[in-house]
Amino acid sequence: MTDKPLKSHVRPPQDTMPGGAGQGCPAPDAQTRSIWRRIMDDFADHCRARSLFVLHYCTGCGAIELPPTITSRFDMERVGITPMVTPRQADILLITGYLSLKTLKRVILSYEQMQGPKYVLGFGSCTINGGMYWNSYATMKRLDQYIPTDLFIAGCMPRPEAVQQVLLKLIEDIDAGRANAWQDYYRNYDFYLGNQQRLFGAGWNTPTDVIGEARHYGYYGPGTEGEHTRLLAEGGGSAARLAHAEYPSTALTGRIKS
Ligand code: SF4
Repeated sequence: MTDKPLKSHVRPPQDTMPGGAGQGCPAPDAQTRSIWRRIMDDFADHCRARSLFVLHYCTGCGAIELPPTITSRFDMERVGITPMVTPRQADILLITGYLSLKTLKRVILSYEQMQGPKYVLGFGSCTINGGMYWNSYATMKRLDQYIPTDLFIAGCMPRPEAVQQVLLKLIEDIDAGRANAWQDYYRNYDFYLGNQQRLFGAGWNTPTDVIGEARHYGYYGPGTEGEHTRLLAEGGGSAARLAHAEYPSTALTGRIKS
């Protein structure tokens, strides 16, 4: 298990755009929150950490470790975690192994439907560096290039003990107010959209108004909009050429944009 091993250099800036018309409210931080707001936030984190719904959706071979994790021997329900069939009611998205490019599209669509706060766990080497599919033309290599990922579980495949350990670590992080990777999607949406466009083409779009949500949540930042959101708005001819030029050597094997 590793704790955010791949994202430290792209963590979101903690500042937000100033409030006002069209920019939403600044995200409250420890300095600006009142004492009552901090108490209520801490209480909410404490409760949230003990009542988590996992989206009932699996990819790759790591999914076979979930039945023993859920059922009697390890029994994840005793720590307040249970499966949920709809993304809008789910808190946790488990990526249980490799993702084909087609599946990645569905994962992104599901992720964007989930309400914040939301948490992503990557199972196995395939989500960290491509694993045994690192040289495949049809799979993605690093999950955190496309959606923010809170924790990874190393191994091929990770055992239920490791899955249970990372779930307990996630509970600890939520309780301590540290599980905030989901905010990165709003603060650096242009980065994630750019990587998605390179795989799927400039026509790639989802029904979710991510920029509007960023303003609503107060996480609109300098990285929310940029060249990729502009290309999307303009029709994306340049991005389509870029996708061909860089696929797959850059898009699938390393960091595309810091
Ligand atoms: S890490 Fe191993 S077990 Fe997990 S999806 Fe990849 S090949 Fe399968």
